[in-house]
Amino acid sequence: MITRFSVAMTTGVAQHLTGHLRRADGQEDCTFVLWRPSTGSRRTTALIVDLVPPEEDERIVHGTVDFTSEYFLRAAGIAAERGCGLGFIHAHPRSRRWQRLNDVDYAAEASFAAQTITLTGLPLIGMTFAGADARYGARVWQRHAPRTYVPTEAENVRVVGDRFTVTFNDTLIPPPEATDRQVRTISAWGQDAQNDLARLHVGVVGTGSVGMLIVEVLARTGLQHLSFFDFDTVEALNLDRLLHATDRDVRLHRAKVDIAARAARRSATGANIRVATHELSVVEPDGFAAAADCDLLFSCVDRPWPRAALNLLAYAHLIPVVDGGIAVDAHRGRLNGAEWRAHVAAPGRACMECLGQYDPAHVPAERDGLLDDPAYIRGLPADHPLRRKENVFVFSANAATAQLNQFLTMVTAPRGIADTGAHLYHLSTGTVDQRLEGCEASCPYDGVLMSLGDDVPVTVTGRHSAAERARDARALAVRRWPLRAQRAADHLLARLLDR
Ligand SMILES: [Zn+2]
Ligand SMILES: [Zn+2]
Repeated sequence: MITRFSVAMTTGVAQHLTGHLRRADGQEDCTFVLWRPSTGSRRTTALIVDLVPPEEDERIVHGTVDFTSEYFLRAAGIAAERGCGLGFIHAHPRSRRWQRLNDVDYAAEASFAAQTITLTGLPLIGMTFAGADARYGARVWQRHAPRTYVPTEAENVRVVGDRFTVTFNDTLIPPPEATDRQVRTISAWGQDAQNDLARLHVGVVGTGSVGMLIVEVLARTGLQHLSFFDFDTVEALNLDRLLHATDRDVRLHRAKVDIAARAARRSATGANIRVATHELSVVEPDGFAAAADCDLLFSCVDRPWPRAALNLLAYAHLIPVVDGGIAVDAHRGRLNGAEWRAHVAAPGRACMECLGQYDPAHVPAERDGLLDDPAYIRGLPADHPLRRKENVFVFSANAATAQLNQFLTMVTAPRGIADTGAHLYHLSTGTVDQRLEGCEASCPYDGVLMSLGDDVPVTVTGRHSAAERARDARALAVRRWPLRAQRAADHLLARLLDR
């Protein structure tokens, strides 16, 4: 049974829908659509993959909309043949924002909910299109008792591509309460943009140097729902570039995600921040599923395997991934230059593989644990990206800012521009390269894998021995009683000081 539900589609599918549902005569129109499931750990998303528009004689337009049973059977047949679910969308031409079910629409959708599940094996998705601002409302019809189908309302409907437009169900996810801490922020982009930004469920994958800075900015900006993913422990050599981390955290063997959660709660300007921590890699099955619950992900990892998993989430599951990276060019203690980049992997934009952010040939080596094997790393050429270790906080700060700018542009679209391309910044010349083209023509991500969701034929997840070792070492360290006593005292102190 689906308890938390969402709908997502590409900008391309959304444009196709808008073109069909906006009638010149202002009447309501309708269409069946095909969808595939994308299952997270707590939320299920219906990915709308295609339309099955009505033929001339299959639609009856008379103020409200109606259709022939031949149309329903034809659409259900196509859905079953393609292994998809069936959805039904009708328009409210003059409405805006989230559309709830009225009694007439409830009765209409309920009348074919049972047949839909019989014919396709998947529950009926009902959607209402608000014609005035091209937004949607959505629900899934599930069986609660024999012959009794009940709609579960979606939390949001996400349209992903050049822009990221999310329509929220105000009942399930109410707009944030206004606080006097955000006056300046809201004066920059207005309450509507703030309501959209604050309600996004954002995941930060990798809460190291770049990720921790991103966490700080998201919390100050008023985002209310954050999830952090990292299996690492804070170490002394992180302290030169890990915001909020202290010597004490090193001594107490704290997980990086715990530092991130503590920081987010302290810095939050929103009234009700919800933070979830996952001591997992996104390549572990539970980590991947938890990432699939997010609306958008920040990628702050530098390894090929998690990047490959995130690339799949971006295109097959329609969760945009804001990625970045740093390369420092140093030789014998001299700084020759530095580069940092930021881009968004999303339908219609270049993916991380096409941008050269990881080499798919390295993924099997990482899965076999070779990238954590010092002998394997020593065998790589000296300038190999996997051997480079130089990093400086100032470059992390630049990369974090560049990624946050990509995020802000995609969600708020200043002057109507949501996609400014992939950016590569050069320290030595002070210049920025912009890449506007999308994926290579043969790329499977912005191609055959698009919107496949759970039906993706390859497995990207698996056991991650480095993550398992890090968690085991942390558990073992914390079992030592002086450390436990210190942690308990720390916890008490934090509570006394109110966090
Ligand atoms: Zn209606
Ligand atoms: Zn690509």
